[in-house]
Order: sequence, then structure tokens, then C-alpha cells
Amino acid sequence: MLDEPLVQELLNEVVQAEENLSIVECLINGTNTDEEIAEKTEIKLNIVRKILYKLYDSGLASYKRSKDPETQWYTYSWEFDAAGVNNQIKEKSASKIADLKENLELEENNMFFVCPEGHSRFAFDQASELGFICPECGNESTFQENDSIINRIKEEIANYEKAYSFSIPENAK
Ligand SMILES: [Zn+2]
Repeated sequence: MLDEPLVQELLNEVVQAEENLSIVECLINGTNTDEEIAEKTEIKLNIVRKILYKLYDSGLASYKRSKDPETQWYTYSWEFDAAGVNNQIKEKSASKIADLKENLELEENNMFFVCPEGHSRFAFDQASELGFICPECGNESTFQENDSIINRIKEEIANYEKAYSFSIPENAK
């Protein structure tokens, strides 16, 4: 599941350093105590703990606490939360799709005028108020064909829609 670009993106935001992804990998593969994870990954125990709590904080991992009846010590058994990952990917995709659709509507319903030197880009009404002059350099704004922009937005929407329907198996190992 770590091959999935969206999963990677999400996890990278949480674990920050790429080498810490091996902690997540270990967890996914069923190693569930901080000490065992530290041993397997050769990452310092305090870093492993920090990352586990970050995952917990982000809703991507959960833990169960139990008391050893003999030593009276608590042990924490950690689990990766695939459902949490799926939910977050869905949420992110949904909000991206909403933004892109708004953008698409704007592009489809307007004519755009741009500065030949790339300083500014205005929809017709605003460009006309400015007398079709770039406020920055005073050059005349020219009509810009925006088909390629529209196509790019449509493509991006399609990608996020694919991501939205994506989900990793919740018992994935
Ligand atoms: Zn300009």
C-alpha cells in the first residue's frame, strides 16, 4: 500500500522524514510495539514513539494499552488504521475536486486577457475596466485562448475522482 502515491503523500506529511516511513511499513506488516519497531528499523526508540503518536494524532494509527499483571508496566499495542487513511484521502480529494470545479466554471464562462510579459491575467469585465492595459507594465493585454487550461483542469478533476474512488483494503498487510 505504500506504493500508492496518494498514501505516500499523506504519510510523508505526517512522518516528515522519508526514512521514518519504514516505521509505518513495520506497523503495516504487523509489528505492534514501539520497542520491536525500533529494533527492526534501527531507528531510535524516542523517534519511533514520536512518529507513532503523530500517526495517532492524524487518525492513521490506534493503540491499545494493557497492564502487565506481574511487572505492573503498561504496554502499548499499536495498529495501523487503513480506514483512517482511506477517509483522509477521500476528504482531501473531495475538497480538491470542489475547488477545481469552481475554477473550471470560471474558465469556461469567461474570456481572459493577459499581459504579454505575464504580469497579469484578468477576466473580460476586469480587463475592460483597466482599459485592457496591464497595471504593472502598461502593455496592452491580449486575449488568451484558454482551451488548454480548461483541458488541464478537467484532467486534474478526473485524477482526483479516480483517487476518490480509490481505497486500500482495510486488513492490508
Ligand atoms: Zn505587464
